[in-house]
This record gives sequence, structure tokens and C-alpha cells, in this order.
Amino acid sequence: MADSFDVIVIGGGPAGYPAAIRAGQNKLSVACIDEWRNHDGSYAFGGTCLNAGCIPSKALLESSELYHRAREEFAVHGIKVGDVGFDVAQMQKRKAGIVKASTQGITALFKASGVTALQGHGKLLPGRRVQFTAADGSKRELTAKHVILASGSVPVELKVAPFKAPHVIDSWGALELEAVPKRLGVIGAGVIGLELGSVWRRLGSEVTVLEALPDFLAMADQQLAKEAARHFKKQGLDIRLGAKVSAAKVSGDAVEVTYEDGKGTHKLTVDRLVVAAGRRPFTGDLLADGTGVALDERGFIKVDEHCRTGAEGVWAVGDCVRGPMLAHKGKEEGVMVADLIAGRYGEVNYRTIPAVIYTTPEIAWVGLTEEQVKASGRTYKVGVFPFLASGRARAMEQAQGFAKVIAAQDDDEILGVHIIGPMAGELIAEAVLAMEYSASSEDLQRTIHAHPTLSEAVHEAALAADKRAIDSINR
Ligand code: FAD
Ligand code: NAD
Repeated sequence: MADSFDVIVIGGGPAGYPAAIRAGQNKLSVACIDEWRNHDGSYAFGGTCLNAGCIPSKALLESSELYHRAREEFAVHGIKVGDVGFDVAQMQKRKAGIVKASTQGITALFKASGVTALQGHGKLLPGRRVQFTAADGSKRELTAKHVILASGSVPVELKVAPFKAPHVIDSWGALELEAVPKRLGVIGAGVIGLELGSVWRRLGSEVTVLEALPDFLAMADQQLAKEAARHFKKQGLDIRLGAKVSAAKVSGDAVEVTYEDGKGTHKLTVDRLVVAAGRRPFTGDLLADGTGVALDERGFIKVDEHCRTGAEGVWAVGDCVRGPMLAHKGKEEGVMVADLIAGRYGEVNYRTIPAVIYTTPEIAWVGLTEEQVKASGRTYKVGVFPFLASGRARAMEQAQGFAKVIAAQDDDEILGVHIIGPMAGELIAEAVLAMEYSASSEDLQRTIHAHPTLSEAVHEAALAADKRAIDSINR
């Protein structure tokens, strides 16, 4: 194996592995170093996303939702299935199979694009040298014209609720549970709290979510957040806002949680406690002294808008740099950097990064919330279309939620699109594309949408912005 490369990528998650593949496509010699190990000790590319995040969570969300629908919804369709049961071990086995196929897929993609895969630890030394430590502890020094840091993130650990498996666990632990806890506590009503809380709630856990902030989904459009809160309450997710956890103690086979809210101090006893209070950038043993790479006050690697660090030829992408901690954001940064290194055009439009929460109903948005537009002082118009008026959503027995389009009053530019309802995560792609092309609401209005599809809701919401919706009453 060569000791010298055009590009070395440290980290093989959804930011690092696409960077390596694109570098290979650009005919650069490239190595990708990754140290992720699963519980059985085996190495696997794919980082948090494929091994312990996006993919396993979606696998369990799908299984638990199918169980829930078979139990609660099939009778409405006239389908008789008798007693519906589930088998957690089989759900976990299916999930593990999906994860394995996905991570092995990366190894195959690396081979196809000429990426040298190195499993072990990478450390940046001054002068674009990289120390690689293999599984057996042997060390080699590699050099590169460019180094891309993609070391990702790890869960935040709270002093008041330190991890103590199997009782106090992080999101990975919550994805690996072998039985349904009778009482599940979750700290944090963010994306992980809602998705994993939903999985175990659908399978029968009594789920209590403690959220420190007084507002639910504070980062989302508040009309959408209100609608979401209503549905989650109906599903039995007990979300307590303004709840500040002060202690969590394992006692026997349970966890005693103490929290304070506006009404005083409360105790909550649960069987398992998931801490989902955010993630922090991970740069442990990544940077030797004198590399010239700086961290900001929150521990993120400092970069400019093209992901250049302060050190010549050293770049950083994904969760270890500023911006939303999302797989698709990291992927676009990785691809941009690999193209810039090859002298090609590369740009990430940070204003059009979609956010999706894979609950039921699903939640997705892009661009500004109504609150943000209002605060900007720009005059605007809003169109909302309820899925109740969508023939396809009704046929699917999923006529919940709405699509909302916010456009500027002056030039009609689309400023934000917010969807809560069936397949919102798929529907948002049209809005992202529209905003990428600086489309107006009229552009969406004049685009033909197939009937009957869920996408008609986005079309009708755009029409509603000018009070010209056909399938719902304009307000
Ligand atoms: P990571 O995926 O964390 O990968 C970094 C890799 O670098 C790891 O393999 C790590 O071991 C390796 N590494 C670090 N340091 C070194 C070193 N010095 N040497 C060698 N290797 C090193 N995002 C979405 O967009 N959609 C979702 O649906 C979604 N669901 C999620 C669900 C859960 C439960 C969680 C926890 C996260 C989810 N995310 C989701 C977030 C997503 O997983 C992250 O944004 C994404 O993985 C970040 O990619 P990354 O490549 O920057 O970092
Ligand atoms: P998050 O930032 O989405 O939510 C954390 C929540 O915990 C916040 O609401 C915060 O106010 C609350 N919190 C923080 N400290 C607390 C405390 N001491 N007590 C009570 N509440 C507290 O973070 P997350 O849900 O842990 O997810 C981490 C990252 O992973 C996010 O950046 C997210 O983007 C990403 N992720 C994305 C997806 C997706 O795209 N579908 C899914 C899962 C995770």
C-alpha cells in the first residue's frame, strides 16, 4: 500500500465516505480511515448514521409503525387479522441485517471508486502527515496533499444523569433494547427523543419525555409544532415541557428521576432512561500539536463556508463542524470539498437543507419558519392545505396534518415550506428543489401534480398562498 495520497479522509461516516468516493471519481488517489467498531468488535464504515443512527432508527420506526397500523387500522380497512403480536428479537435481527448490508455496501463502493479503506485510528500531524494506528496497534505515517477531517459527533452526557447501561442509556442503547421497557423515560424532546420515544411507545412502553425548554419543537414553525404536539399527545407520548432534570439514580432495576418545573420538584420512576439531550462534535485524539487546525468555543472544528480549516490543505466536514447535525448536510459538504480539491465547482446552499422527523405523522421543513420571516420584517403570505382534503391521504387512512407554504408578498419568492403529514419527508424534496431554483409560489402553482397524490397538498398550499386553492376553502 502507498504511504502517500492526494487525499486522506479521517472518518468514514456520511460526511467522510462520500468525500472519499467523490475524490476517487475525480481520479485522485485517496484513503479513508475509520475506527468505528460495533458491539461485537467488528469494524464497519458508515459512522453513526449507518451503524447507530439514521438507518437502524428508521428500520425500527417502520417495524413498530406496521405493528401499530395492523393493530389499530386494519379493521377500518376491513382486514381481519385476529390477535396481532410482535417479536422484538426478529425486529432487531431485521434491523441488524439492514445495517450490515448498508455498511458492507460502502466497502464495495470504495473498491469500485479506487478508495483505499483503512480501518483503525487516524491522527493529523503537522504538515498534512497522518498517523494511522491499525487494529493490532501498529503505527504508520502517511502523507497527503489534502486531508479531510470527518470525525463526527457523540451523544452529550449529562452530569445529572450519567450513562449507566443498561439503565441509563444513549440513543444507540435505545436502538438495541432487547425487550420493551414497561416505563421508558427520555430526557430531551428533540428529534431522537421523538423518534425513539415513538418506536417504544408503539410497542407498548409508557413513555415520558422530559424537555427543559418551555416550548415544544422550538426550532420548528410553531403552527407545525402545535399540530405535532396534539398528535403525539393522542398517541400517548407524555411530553413534559419546562422540565429540568436534577438527578437520575439507578435503584434496583429502575431509575429514579428527579426534575423541577414551574410547579415544583417531581419524581419519576422508569425502567430505562434514554438521554437524548443533543450531540457534541467529536475530535478526541484527532489533532496533534502544531497542526494549525482550531476549534471554536463549543468544540467544533473552525471552518469557512467552503469547509477550509485554518491549516493549508486541511478541510473539515459533517457533524464536527458548524451547522445542523444531519447526514445529508455532511454528505454535501464532503462532496463539495472533494470537488474543490479537484479544481471543480463546489458549493453547499445552507439555506435549503431540509429537516425531517420520522414520526407519525411525519414532519419536514425547509427554509424559514413563519416566526423567522415575521422577525425579518419582510411582508409575507401563507398558504395552508390540510391533508383532510387530500383524496390520496384519505384513501391511505392518513388524512392528518397539513402542508404550509410561506412566500414573500413583494416578489412571491418561496421562503419556507413546512409539512406535517404522510410522507412529509418525501414531499419536502419538491420544496427544496423549488427553493434551490429560487422559485415563486406561482411556479409551484403552475406545476402539474399527478392526481391523486400526496404532492397535490404542496401544490394546493402554494395556491392557497394567493387564496386560489381549489380543493379547500381559502381563508
Ligand atoms: P459520524 O457519522 O459520527 O461518523 C464519523 C466517523 O468517524 C465514525 O465512524 C467515527 O468512528 C470515525 N472517527 C472519528 N474520529 C476518528 C479518528 N480519529 N480516526 C478514525 N476514525 C474516526 N441524520 C439525518 O440526516 N437523518 C436521520 O434520520 C438521522 N437519524 C439519526 C438517528 C440517531 C439515533 C442519531 C444518533 C443520529 C441521527 N442522525 C440523522 C444524525 C446523523 O447520524 C449524523 O448527522 C451523521 O452521522 C454525521 O455524519 P459524520 O460523517 O459527520 O459523522
Ligand atoms: P436535539 O438537539 O434535536 O434535541 C435535544 C433536546 O434535548 C432539545 O430539545 C433540548 O432542549 C433538550 N435538552 C437538552 N438538555 C436537556 C436537559 N438537561 N433536560 C431536558 N432536556 C434537555 O438533539 P437529539 O435529539 O439528541 O439529536 C442529536 C442530533 O442528531 C440532532 O442534531 C439531530 O439533528 C440529529 N438527528 C437527526 C434525526 C433526523 O434527521 N431525523 C434523527 C435523530 C437525530
